[in-house]
Amino acid sequence: MAILVTGGAGYIGSHTVAELLDRGEKVIILDSLKKGHHAAVLAEPFYQGDVRDQDLLKRIFSEHEVDAVLHFAADSLVGESVQDPLKYYDNNVVSAQRLLTAMVEHGVKKIVFSSTAAVYGEPEQVPIEEHSPTRPASPYGETKRVIEKMMEWSEKAYGLEYISLRYFNAAGAHPKGHIGEDHDPETHLIPLVLQVALGKREAISIFGDDYPTPDGTCIRDYIHVTDLAQAHWLAVDHLRRGKGSAIYNLGNGNGYSVKEVIDTARKVTGHAIPAIMVPRRGGDPAVLIASSGKAKRELGWHPQYEKLEEIIRSAWEWHQSHPDGYQDVTVLTKK
Ligand code: NAD
Repeated sequence: MAILVTGGAGYIGSHTVAELLDRGEKVIILDSLKKGHHAAVLAEPFYQGDVRDQDLLKRIFSEHEVDAVLHFAADSLVGESVQDPLKYYDNNVVSAQRLLTAMVEHGVKKIVFSSTAAVYGEPEQVPIEEHSPTRPASPYGETKRVIEKMMEWSEKAYGLEYISLRYFNAAGAHPKGHIGEDHDPETHLIPLVLQVALGKREAISIFGDDYPTPDGTCIRDYIHVTDLAQAHWLAVDHLRRGKGSAIYNLGNGNGYSVKEVIDTARKVTGHAIPAIMVPRRGGDPAVLIASSGKAKRELGWHPQYEKLEEIIRSAWEWHQSHPDGYQDVTVLTKK
């Protein structure tokens, strides 16, 4: 049996494909390459196409014996989703609806879904637990919550089983150094800070230092991408063993402030990394930290890269060896 990975040429998808291959799984990748990279496609068969393409989904499910789907493909820029919400309902919600429909039609009953901490919005308490209220503060978070609900109803109606993994901030790169993070535009703090160390930007902006946190800057939970990848395989295994649907947070349970990230990056890179203080951005909660105890207990998940310094060091190794990311491939995909 094979696992279909949508978005398998993207950042987290490619790292998860690497993990699945290490576990001896047969993997099929579907990615439009609109945001992903050809060089990050680690398995064959690879279908370059859109999850919304119903004929293509039908072809894939007819040509292969798929027993589980890992659904990463999505647009995921919070700010862009506020500017253009319909794009997010189209690419995220419509994609998921078509994928679930094709799965039901072809009797594929297991899905692991990339959800996000953004489903919680401003938390009432930290660390955030899975039963905390969901009040997404952006169309991006809302579309992910809608898809979770679509899966809940599909379980009742069609017997489809799902695991929704709510990631906090993914960071770092594969320890072998062949794949890493290359988003365009880049919006994540760690790669942005490292771009300063590489001389690709002059300084890093800190959005507000007057939050109710020890150093005044926002605190976030960073989770190494390889640890996320491990959790995906465990989630498939959980479903295959008949343990049923569930929602899990994936974070490292330790929060780090923006200033701590910058200081650690200075230490790892040996670069001064100038920082500029600018006013707060709207909608940034002061502290977002996950409680991941449920994933550890029920999935047997053991994150291996919990220290911020290790996470930044692995990202730095990738950025040093690929200062322009998957540059060759970006040219190809921009045609
Ligand atoms: P990414 O942009 O690197 O990967 C997404 C991939 O999906 C890309 O390769 C893109 O080409 C592909 N894709 C998008 N829409 C598609 C479509 N309609 N058809 C086919 N392919 C399509 O993003 P990522 O950082 O790897 O994130 C993966 C998933 O994890 C996303 O669903 C995202 O919302 C979620 N997530 C990411 C983070 C994070 O910190 N990066 C945090 C929480 C949740």
